[in-house]
Amino acid sequence: MAFPIKTCVVCGEEFELKPDKPGFANRCPRCSIPEDAEPVGARRKDAVERQNEQEVNAERRRVIRDMLYRRNG
Ligand SMILES: [Zn+2]
Repeated sequence: MAFPIKTCVVCGEEFELKPDKPGFANRCPRCSIPEDAEPVGARRKDAVERQNEQEVNAERRRVIRDMLYRRNG
């Protein structure tokens, strides 16, 4: 019996959508694994990456504030 072929929205790989497949219908079985099980190919942010992101956001806010002050002042 053939199952419909779907393209995974996470990794772009094609997979058979079986009726008993756990997780999302638009994700392959590998990408349907819960995050704490460390799925292969999934983007995972570690603490350093999160810290960098916070610094970038803070810097961006500062620059925008600077621009607003300059325009108003
Ligand atoms: Zn996938």
